Amino acid sequence: MPLARILFMIEFDLNKAVQEIKKRKAKNVALQIPEGIKPRLPSIAEEIEKKTGANTISFVDPCFGACGIKDVASKELGMDLIIHFGHTKFVSNESLPTVYIPIEYKADKKAMAFLATKLGDKLKEKNIKKIILCSTIQFKKHRTIVKKELVKKGFEVFEGSGKNVEKGQVLGCNYSGVKAVEGKAEAIAFVGDGLFHPIGLSFAAKKPVFIAEPVQKEVKEIGQEKDLFLRKRIAMIEKAKQAKSIIIWVCTKKGQERMKLAMQLKKKFEAKGKKAYIFTSNLLIPDYIAGINIEAIVSTACPRIAFDDSSLFRQPIINPAEASVVLGEKKLENYFFDELC
Ligand code: SF4
Repeated sequence: MPLARILFMIEFDLNKAVQEIKKRKAKNVALQIPEGIKPRLPSIAEEIEKKTGANTISFVDPCFGACGIKDVASKELGMDLIIHFGHTKFVSNESLPTVYIPIEYKADKKAMAFLATKLGDKLKEKNIKKIILCSTIQFKKHRTIVKKELVKKGFEVFEGSGKNVEKGQVLGCNYSGVKAVEGKAEAIAFVGDGLFHPIGLSFAAKKPVFIAEPVQKEVKEIGQEKDLFLRKRIAMIEKAKQAKSIIIWVCTKKGQERMKLAMQLKKKFEAKGKKAYIFTSNLLIPDYIAGINIEAIVSTACPRIAFDDSSLFRQPIINPAEASVVLGEKKLENYFFDELC
């Protein structure tokens, strides 16, 4: 979604941030903010400082999720509180008090009632009466309206509670809420934009997946997209099988760090006669490894990196679930989506 549109659509509770800072008597506050609202950062910092008297520092390195909570760095910088904007709590062991202020998109009731009608018609066409509804936190308001409308139309609607997510919420690395209620419904409807989450859902749960897209107000069922995704991943896995030297990449972000898994993978690749090295950084950027002669990368971090950024790397880049196919432990027919939770 273009940045100007995001800025127009979003809403978040800055007052909650102010109240929490006052309540906790915080003097030095670290702000973490996702890319979409960075242009508002100066005014947010100014308002917080003016209303609370606290000092703020703002992290400006990219923040894609609460998995990247900056507790350790904030502590070292002498902060006593973190205000993390954009996402819900992800890790359970922050080393500094942290307040999460999720960012949600504004929802138009009439438009969402229209979207619910379109979704309802599509489900009726397919004779589906029981549906699991889910969304990212940004589209929570849209999901709430769609749910109400579907219930009015006689559908049975389920929203699952998962690990480290709110009821009905999914993350690119976490579909546990949907899986918790998988047996209760005949299909899944994702309220939101983009293909990444619907494709993830189609692997995580063995049910038809529909997208109810709130901006264009379109409804469609995932089909060819899943096959295309799988074909690309199979090509990547086949290339990785040929590699004699492999980087196992560990992310230093608290919620993405999987060091134990990386160690296990290194041993397994070495047992297959490959050279394997564990590399680590906060972000995986092609330039960081440009001069290193390595033939494949296994990213143990956010699953989106191997999927969304693969074209940036000259080597094939796969995730641990795909590495298990390369290692001969899993069969391609049982392809599953890498999840962190
Ligand atoms: S690991 Fe990736 S998908 Fe999961 S919360 Fe972090 S950025 Fe989002």
